Amino acid sequence: AFVGDCSNAVFGRDELIERTEGFPYVVIDCQFYDLHSKKEKSKVKTQLRATLGVIRDFMWDDRLAITGKKIQEFERFYSESTASFIKEKNFDRVILLDPNAEEVYSGEKADCFIIGGIVDKTGNKKGWTSKIGRDLEREGIDFTSAKILLRGDTIGVPDRINTIAEMVLLTVLDGIEVEEAIRRVQ
Ligand code: SAM
Repeated sequence: AFVGDCSNAVFGRDELIERTEGFPYVVIDCQFYDLHSKKEKSKVKTQLRATLGVIRDFMWDDRLAITGKKIQEFERFYSESTASFIKEKNFDRVILLDPNAEEVYSGEKADCFIIGGIVDKTGNKKGWTSKIGRDLEREGIDFTSAKILLRGDTIGVPDRINTIAEMVLLTVLDGIEVEEAIRRVQ
């Protein structure tokens, strides 16, 4: 599913829209970054680096946004908040990947996928992704929350930011079933 960097190519506006259609934005919401320990912050950064690698494998840099916290090394992906980014882009369909969601993710396409920039090593961060959802609701954003399951459970689904991004892109861009995508990133 590799697509080269379009930034230097000369396309007409309509042609560019057609060429970039179907390639979703991936937003990593890092509003809770400062609540992580020093070690966890370093892991968040490692996972962001790996996520950028995933984005480059499937798409191009413009498709990544990091919201809620300007993190050194990733400033150029920074956007103030997930809600303002979504409003600015005027997306039709937005999916928040949330392990505590009611709905199950089964490979639906979207203009934008949101992943929490959260690392669970210390403390109890259960439910933090749903807080991102509550922010979006408050901002009047239309979105769906969905959880990724393996054999009916979130246990066994690799929960690193980059692996979640890779699973989703394998599913929506390469047409691979969710459970097969999970096995590929494990
Ligand atoms: N402790 C957090 C919580 O309970 O909300 C989960 C943090 S998880 C380490 C990092 C991110 O990966 C989550 O914010 C979510 O976007 C995504 N994620 C991890 N596992 C997931 C799953 N099974 N289904 C959907 N999203 C998942």
